Amino acid sequence: TPLIKKQAPIPIAMYGGRHAVTMLPGGGIGPELMEYVREVFKYAGAPIDFEVIDIDPRSEESDAFDYAITSIKRNGVGIKGNIETKSESAGVTSRNVALRNELDLYINILHCKSFPGVPARQKDIDIVIIRQNTEGEYAMLEHESVDGVVESMKVVTESNSERVARYAFEFAKRTGRKKITTIHKANIMKLSDGLFLQTSKKIAKEYPEIEHNDMIIDNCCMQLVSKPHQFDVMIMTNLYGSIVSNVLCGLIGGAGLLSGRNYGDHYAIFEPGTRNTGTAIAGKNIANPLAMLNASIDMLNHLGHKQHANLIKNAMMKTVAEDHLLTTDLGGTAKTSEVVQRIIDHILQADIRAW
Ligand code: ATP
Repeated sequence: TPLIKKQAPIPIAMYGGRHAVTMLPGGGIGPELMEYVREVFKYAGAPIDFEVIDIDPRSEESDAFDYAITSIKRNGVGIKGNIETKSESAGVTSRNVALRNELDLYINILHCKSFPGVPARQKDIDIVIIRQNTEGEYAMLEHESVDGVVESMKVVTESNSERVARYAFEFAKRTGRKKITTIHKANIMKLSDGLFLQTSKKIAKEYPEIEHNDMIIDNCCMQLVSKPHQFDVMIMTNLYGSIVSNVLCGLIGGAGLLSGRNYGDHYAIFEPGTRNTGTAIAGKNIANPLAMLNASIDMLNHLGHKQHANLIKNAMMKTVAEDHLLTTDLGGTAKTSEVVQRIIDHILQADIRAW
């Protein structure tokens, strides 16, 4: 369908087959993990030139946010850490949300697939969460109408609900997935979640080969921790997506493992799946580097650099599944730098003639 073909087109490579990619390190553990991405890319020979823009709130550069937008619009692709939102006052918007809105990155995909060698509460999980990424409860329209009364608007539009549903069904068709579950709370939020649910039911009729059902968000959370294998692809509005993503990441290995992809019709941004800042563990050489490395692998795949993506992925798999070198969040004792060094060792030892 034309809708999907238009989506986040692959930017044309520069001279020598190289791509420029915007890198937004963000706060907390973001900068150190980005350094490791650059290090790994250097040894893997990945043909990427990073344009680094610091939009951390402590950054001196007040125009940095605008630079970031301009840079991503020029390069088409970005990789980011989480940008801290320091202020708690109304009117100060999260720059993570603002960035996704400005670039109309209306889809977030989190592929929750069990990782060989990672101890987890549930085994053999393979679920794709497709989340509306720009509206819903993240509309950032809150105000105090009178003292002590706060109103917050949740915005659901038919057009965005349709884009999410259509993307999900096309995704399922393309990747051979069999079932899509719409997650909602339409029994209470009859108009907003009702619209999201009705729209997904309408789109589902165009794809009779893919099974469609729906589930209320509270039951969904219970089913996820007790019987997660019933799920294949799930679609939902923004806030439910954030919560369900974290539940699933917790089931298969925590905040430091999975990556998330943000897509619109023109641009793509790759980031760790649970979007944590990790301020408390920054600078201690203990953060798990795998989520950010997975984001960088997604980015390489998006740009068509599949061999480099596979080279890094295989090195990561060997480090985790064969060497059992894990950071403390995954029950190991390894430091971040040790894990990264081992990944680089495997990259250097890889027999690239096997390609
Ligand atoms: P802060 O950002 O100040 O640490 P927080 O407690 O909300 O605040 P998050 O950043 O949201 O923490 O992260 C949630 C949890 O996941 C924290 O315990 C954090 O240490 C952990 N975490 C996040 N990213 C990673 C990572 N890459 N490796 C290991 N642990 C991580």
